Amino acid sequence: MHFSPRRSFYEAAFTQSTMSLIVHKYGGTSMGSVERIQNVAKRVAKWMRAGHQVVVVPSAMSGETNRLLGLAKELSANPNPRELDQIASTGEQVSSGLLAIALQEQGVDAVSYAGWQVTVHTDSAFTKARIMGIDDAKIMKDLNAGRAVVITGFQGVDPEGNITTLGRGGSDTSAVAVAAALKADECLIYTDVDGVYTTDPRVCEDARRLEKITFEEMLEMASLGSKVLQIRSVEFAGKYKVKTRVLSSLTDPLIPLEQEMKLGTLITFEEDSTMEAAVISGIAFARDEAKITVIDVPDRPGIAYQILGPIADANIDVDMIIQNQSVDAKTDFTFTVPRAEYQKALDLLKKSVQTHIGAKDILGDAKVSKVSVVGVGMRSHVGVASKMFRTLSEEGINILMISTSEIKISVVIDEKYMELAVRALHKAFELDQK
Ligand code: ASP
Ligand code: MG
Repeated sequence: MHFSPRRSFYEAAFTQSTMSLIVHKYGGTSMGSVERIQNVAKRVAKWMRAGHQVVVVPSAMSGETNRLLGLAKELSANPNPRELDQIASTGEQVSSGLLAIALQEQGVDAVSYAGWQVTVHTDSAFTKARIMGIDDAKIMKDLNAGRAVVITGFQGVDPEGNITTLGRGGSDTSAVAVAAALKADECLIYTDVDGVYTTDPRVCEDARRLEKITFEEMLEMASLGSKVLQIRSVEFAGKYKVKTRVLSSLTDPLIPLEQEMKLGTLITFEEDSTMEAAVISGIAFARDEAKITVIDVPDRPGIAYQILGPIADANIDVDMIIQNQSVDAKTDFTFTVPRAEYQKALDLLKKSVQTHIGAKDILGDAKVSKVSVVGVGMRSHVGVASKMFRTLSEEGINILMISTSEIKISVVIDEKYMELAVRALHKAFELDQK
């Protein structure tokens, strides 16, 4: 699939010369009640009346996916993943049908489709399937006939005809993938926050909405714990250059289009941006991390593989990894895992270390958090790391681990200092100021 932008959305919208093709995505909160669905329909109708073609990708009504999966868990501690997808996908099917009806009540010709009807093709990894391709013929035919097309988020169909789902939060990915397949002018992700913030406003009250963020930064923020968008949707936006905007669905649905098009946060591409970027754009954190250290492992080829192999085989995400310099041919090996997987990782490790690695001890700390500063401006500025470390030291916060990439620096610290660290860094990097 190759994305060739047909024309700039703004150009099209402002000159009114041609219509734009826009994908709207509405999250669970935005679809959470009959009144909210009516508001979504009013907003979509407004876009249609302005002459645009609109494809809408809704999530299930808020709480519905949890409720559905909860029913399965009542029946089995280990429910079959194929059946879980069969169940969980119904939430989006209901909200799509409801939205089509609400649109029709607004006088908009609308039709809803489940993933298998479109078709949204995925692989067969139940509960975490990947989109392989989306047929555009049927959608384009409806759009060209003046219809609003509603497509279920979160779901698709595998080559054998089984219904699949894309993982929690997957409707974001559905929407961006649909936008990529249709070469849409823009993908608008309507949600319950009014954009992407410099950090979580619940942790730092000075957090500020960003008008723009580059795709690279957004990807880091999503991977590092910011929950605004599903990571895969950001990967898709980057790969296919989908112009994506995150904005609130809770504004007046009838606000003028020109105003609405400036709301929220636009995800841009670094090479397109002409302005001097701020050094740091945001601070991300992952509160629930855990750290494991294997003490005195023999320092010889294959050790990292022997330690981490069984953990990877169990599908546990390993994040930061540090191996110390060896003393007397022995070294310490430390890594982090999500806290929910800590006990499982520890148990696996105890087994493998005892049977063939022969280390002295395994230590763990399940109360650590990761705090990261993110910004493409880091590429051209030195001293970001030292400023980060100085800020933390001034607060008396001990750094347990450090990792860096071109556009981020992450530290692992004691969980109890996490919020303090976020606030101090937010201030030190002047993120409270424009
Ligand atoms: N309904 C699904 C979930 O709760 C997908 C989504 O909302 O994006 O994860
Ligand atoms: Mg979501």
